[in-house]
Amino acid sequence: MIRAEIIAIGSELLTPSRIDTNSLFITGELNRLGVDVVEKHVVGDERARLIEAVRIAIHHSEIVILTGGLGPTEDDLTREAAAEALDRKLVRSPEQEEILVRRFQQINRKMADINRRQTFLIEGAKALPNPYGTAPGQFLRTSTGSVFLLPGPPRELKPMMHEQVIPLLRPMLPPQVIRTRVFRVTGLGESDLDALIAPVYTKFANPTTTVLSAPGDLSVTLFARSSSEAEADALLKEAGDPIAQLLGERVYSNEDDPLEVVVGNLLRRRHATVATAESCTGGLIAARLTEHAGSSDFFTGSFVTYNDLQKQQLLGIPKDLLGTYTAVSEPVARAMAEAAKKNTGSTYALSVTGFAGPDGGTEENPVGTVFIGLAGPRETKVRRIRYGLDRARIRLLATQAAIDLLRHELLQDC
Ligand code: AMP
Ligand code: MG
Repeated sequence: MIRAEIIAIGSELLTPSRIDTNSLFITGELNRLGVDVVEKHVVGDERARLIEAVRIAIHHSEIVILTGGLGPTEDDLTREAAAEALDRKLVRSPEQEEILVRRFQQINRKMADINRRQTFLIEGAKALPNPYGTAPGQFLRTSTGSVFLLPGPPRELKPMMHEQVIPLLRPMLPPQVIRTRVFRVTGLGESDLDALIAPVYTKFANPTTTVLSAPGDLSVTLFARSSSEAEADALLKEAGDPIAQLLGERVYSNEDDPLEVVVGNLLRRRHATVATAESCTGGLIAARLTEHAGSSDFFTGSFVTYNDLQKQQLLGIPKDLLGTYTAVSEPVARAMAEAAKKNTGSTYALSVTGFAGPDGGTEENPVGTVFIGLAGPRETKVRRIRYGLDRARIRLLATQAAIDLLRHELLQDC
């Protein structure tokens, strides 16, 4: 396995105001080539530390990519530090100087003397042209691997990665096919998911498995590497089929589609429509269902009824019902869903009413209690769910659970 390491250079990347985004981009590109990034570092503009970081990196990893610190000023130390770490000289490149002089002429500016620093190459390095900036990148082979010096500005780095670095790396790597299999999952927590599928995926070194989690939304990706597509697919099948079986209908997409897109497609296929009546989610469900173009095919409308009066006026929920059971109750969730369905003439309607907190709640229904209603062609279902205490999380989880309730219903109604 070819291993890579990235060093992002710049003191600003060690402040709260700047993020090292370059290494994420570089990692994505390397992964596509089948190269794993095994370490990355952010180092400030400090010569001694930088030399040490480069020394360790070239000792550890076959591919070392440095980004940043190639500018013309005193704090741009990458060239000098890398040369020293590699025990090589920095040599003036008349060719690079000419390119830079011409570049300044083109933009009608005089080249400052300090820019000449940018035309020095590490002994034995190949210059990587930088049409979007003044500092060329550099590439050199050492006895143990390859080192790249790339500019920091993302608009310079990205084209250089695509146009120079990847074509240089590709022939060095064994021919490899990478295939992925994705499971988007909802309806269980991250630790429950892991307890369920870890016994399967830990048996396989290839494919590797990653689990990403957002509130109420998990994504399991298997990456298989092989010399042929057929073999990579066979590996994905061997590890993926038992996972698919364990997860069952909790998998809402194998195409990496978000839940609302999946549900929109299910509705469309059945020529069915949906409306929403929302209290504590404040329109979040409607926002998600209408996020993607074409949602008018299946979305009729939404009622955001936050207080009791609006529940009465917009949805016609009887005052008595609210008085007897309170707004956060099974009967009110049921009545809200049925009213939204009736008022818009939709096939289905979702309702949500709950205590998102931090205040409110009763002994019977404390903060975090949410009732989700689903009115359908034949009956109305209501689920009572208890979440934790975090307001934003309760709203997101309730939104996800409501859309997922509709998905399960649609899977049965086919
Ligand atoms: P430099 O190449 O160090 O002169 O960086 C020039 C510009 O690129 C600065 O605005 C940096 O903030 C930006 N930059 C440098 N390194 C990174 C990085 N790793 N991720 C994102 N932006 C960066
Ligand atoms: Mg810098």
